[in-house]
Amino acid sequence: MDTDSITANWEKKDLDNVASAEGLSRDKLKRLIETGRVAIPRNAKRAAHVDGRVLKAIGEGMSTKVNVNVGTSMDYVNIEEEVEKVKIAVKYGADAVMDLSTGGDIDEVRRRILKEVAVPVGTVPIYQAALGRSGERAVVDMSSDDMFNAVRAHAKDGIDFVTIHAGVNLNTLERLKRSNRILDVVSRGGAFHVAWMIHNERENPFYAEYEYLLEIAKEYDLTLSLGDGMRPGAILDASDRAKYMENIVLGELVAVAREEGVQTIVEGPGHVPLDEIEASVKTIKHITDFAPLYLLGPLVTDIAPGYDHFVSSIGGAVAGMYGADFLCMVSPSEHLALPSVNDIKEGTIVTKIAAHVADLVKAGQREKARRLDAEMAQARKKLDWEKQLELAINPEEARRIKDSRPSVTDACSICGDLCAIKLVKEFLEK
Ligand code: SF4
Repeated sequence: MDTDSITANWEKKDLDNVASAEGLSRDKLKRLIETGRVAIPRNAKRAAHVDGRVLKAIGEGMSTKVNVNVGTSMDYVNIEEEVEKVKIAVKYGADAVMDLSTGGDIDEVRRRILKEVAVPVGTVPIYQAALGRSGERAVVDMSSDDMFNAVRAHAKDGIDFVTIHAGVNLNTLERLKRSNRILDVVSRGGAFHVAWMIHNERENPFYAEYEYLLEIAKEYDLTLSLGDGMRPGAILDASDRAKYMENIVLGELVAVAREEGVQTIVEGPGHVPLDEIEASVKTIKHITDFAPLYLLGPLVTDIAPGYDHFVSSIGGAVAGMYGADFLCMVSPSEHLALPSVNDIKEGTIVTKIAAHVADLVKAGQREKARRLDAEMAQARKKLDWEKQLELAINPEEARRIKDSRPSVTDACSICGDLCAIKLVKEFLEK
């Protein structure tokens, strides 16, 4: 790969903006991108669709980013609601959004979302390919052309990154068959490829014709997010041979993409108990030669439906501490129903907290993140309520609670005139 093959045609100001947001020099950022340790999803066609596009760097040394998934389903289609979801996600700090639509006019949803938000937008093109031209389930009937054409169509619209389950190949499938998993495959894209390979007795086209996929990616500057088709869907299924086999394949695919100057992100699990997160993150990072790691969770218990946004942010914070770069928002409706606008808002806020908690201990971000906490501590010491509310991750909610039970003193209504901060300050200053 040429030393400048990825960023050669990028505008300097784009690199400068990202470098300044992350607190490093343009040259260092460029080096990290060229070596594949950092990715900036940016479709070359997207600029024509959106004013004031916001680029985000994902990977080593960068702040932990948050992605928010939205999208229609075959059971529920309301395009305006999906647009509202991406807007609220960005309002509460989403660094990227993904449209996972599988119902209604999927092209229309994708194009609307591309126009409505300035952050990177991703999709999973296999979802649309698996619906066929009639919009009905055509998982095992799609041709390899249908799969590649879906990727091309999304790229042509300006999509910045796409999830591609190229690691779900015949070899990985064999490991799955020999496993004793409770929940065999919980990734929708992974399930499509597994069903397709078994039915058609053929290798996954995204794996078999990976070079062709790279050609499409190169043409549009499309970032490949190499999907986690074998992600465990239960705590007892975590860290098994099927998942690690897929990680090995993904590592090889990352290397090939780098040779061709295509940016990659690697997706990771899933449901993982707390004590396996460190090994999981570090192993995936090593096997993939430190590609940016995008985690779908990890969810650290299976038994909290309704609260899975908290479950995944516990896992996300720990994973971020060990090197995960990109956290996928999990909403309170995970495992239960298509999320509402409010579910997206709650999930985004909780995932942003996890990302910040990770940044507080992450090399390259620690000082910057700690400055925010220091500011909050100073505001608390001064009982400066306006400043505290301004610094809060969700100022509206913080204000609502503060105003709901006001104090007659300048402290808050928890201790009132017995405020510890005030009391000790008074005596220490004597
Ligand atoms: S009143 Fe109590 S809870 Fe409120 S700021 Fe003072 S010490 Fe903190």
